[in-house]
Amino acid sequence: MVELPPFEHTNVESIAGIAGGVRKSFLAHKTRPLEFRIQQLRKLYWALNDSKDLITEACKKDLGKSSFETYLTEISWLMNDIVFMTTNLPRFAKDESPTDIALTNRLFAPKIRKDPLGTVLIIGAYNFPIQLSIGPLIGAIAAGCTAILKPSESSPHAAAVMQKMIAESLDPSCYTVIQGAIPETTALLDEKWDKIFYTGSAPVGTIIAKKAAETLTPVTLELGGKNPAIITKHADPRLAARRLLWAKTLNAGQVCVSQNFTLIDKDLVPAFIAEMKIQLKEFYPQGAQKSPDYGRIVNLRQFQRLKKMLDDSAGKIVVGGSMDESDLFIEPTVVQVPSMDDSLIRDESFGPLLPIIAVQDLDEAIKIANEVDGTPLGLYPFGNKAEMEKVLSQTRSGGASLNDGFFHASIPTMPFGGVGSSGQGAYRGKASFDVFTHRRSITKTPAWIEGMLDIRYPPYTDKKANK
Ligand code: NAD
Repeated sequence: MVELPPFEHTNVESIAGIAGGVRKSFLAHKTRPLEFRIQQLRKLYWALNDSKDLITEACKKDLGKSSFETYLTEISWLMNDIVFMTTNLPRFAKDESPTDIALTNRLFAPKIRKDPLGTVLIIGAYNFPIQLSIGPLIGAIAAGCTAILKPSESSPHAAAVMQKMIAESLDPSCYTVIQGAIPETTALLDEKWDKIFYTGSAPVGTIIAKKAAETLTPVTLELGGKNPAIITKHADPRLAARRLLWAKTLNAGQVCVSQNFTLIDKDLVPAFIAEMKIQLKEFYPQGAQKSPDYGRIVNLRQFQRLKKMLDDSAGKIVVGGSMDESDLFIEPTVVQVPSMDDSLIRDESFGPLLPIIAVQDLDEAIKIANEVDGTPLGLYPFGNKAEMEKVLSQTRSGGASLNDGFFHASIPTMPFGGVGSSGQGAYRGKASFDVFTHRRSITKTPAWIEGMLDIRYPPYTDKKANK
């Protein structure tokens, strides 16, 4: 057993000084050289590698995560991101020659320089506590920013491991962790930032955006949403059940891109429910609670929130349904709900509850999906090619996986982000560099060109006007 570092709130009084220090380092141009950024990223890579056991233990304690899931969605995920970034950073950071430049303007050597935005604040969520905090940090380091990371206090063990890792591996004058909840985050928001990168719920996202607007600070908001899955009568019920069950059992359904509700053609409902029962048994032959592969709800507050959602629902539990408060366990639970006004549809469940609604046809499914949340984070249609294309052409969403649950979000080089109510801005792959970079347009006017420029100087004589 590894010994986890303690979680301690940062003293609120010290926050302004810490933020000022990190800003000073940026203004001293410490993070500008590419070699420095690559060196820091490599150090972070080895810190992750050396902290595998600590991270695994912390995620087990915070969320009951299996070591396989932690390796896949936190450790190897981030290490691969760093390898991608260090390999490609020289190319991303190079001056760019703009296209669509008229011949005469080429004389001014136009180029786009990739400037770091400055000093940035990264606020993380609890569900993938390491990935969602260090992921944006990789982009900030790559872009040449200095950064303060505020992990979620709801996953305190992971937050403490990150603080230790960052303090021991990175330059402390440029990158540091502030621990805490609302008072500490509020103190951080009182400071001036060049960007705030926030992952979490929409209500808190609104608080962040309002505060940032006071100082015209740009924000990236990675929020939640009420993601629909749509199953048409031409879909394979076994495949749909297996894939959607996976998407709601990974991290016990505490995944921002999981489907929040599933709209199923009425003729397929019995087959889908039967397949859900079979798949649940296949995933967890000894039952989900006894399985080492199934996680837990992060804390009592979230457990009670989910329990209330289920208690308030007018639906019928057709698969699962057991809960154990002492173990923060909620079984993957399929509920057939009568209407879209149900508690399980109205709010984001962010847990292993899988409401389903029977629909007459695809048109009704699309109509309901658009009414519940016109701009969810993800959307998951199952059906034939024409049906899936129809869904895409009549809806909006941050991303979409056709014939699957949130696969698009696992491709490391695709931009990931929401639209409308599910967020703004994107990261991962090159987008992680771009999101912390200012594209600075630069020209250089040669001395010899002065004769040609004469036309722009007053007095604007008739001769000039007629030229
Ligand atoms: P949360 O909004 O409760 O907390 C997120 C962060 O905000 C935490 O660091 C927290 O300390 C801080 N915070 C909370 N209240 C605050 C306040 N009043 N003022 C300032 N800061 C405050 O979110 P969560 O519970 O950690 O995560 C769940 C939500 O996040 C879900 O809605 C989920 O869909 C969303 N999420 C989105 C993504 C994404 O990438 N789009 C990823 C994970 C989670």
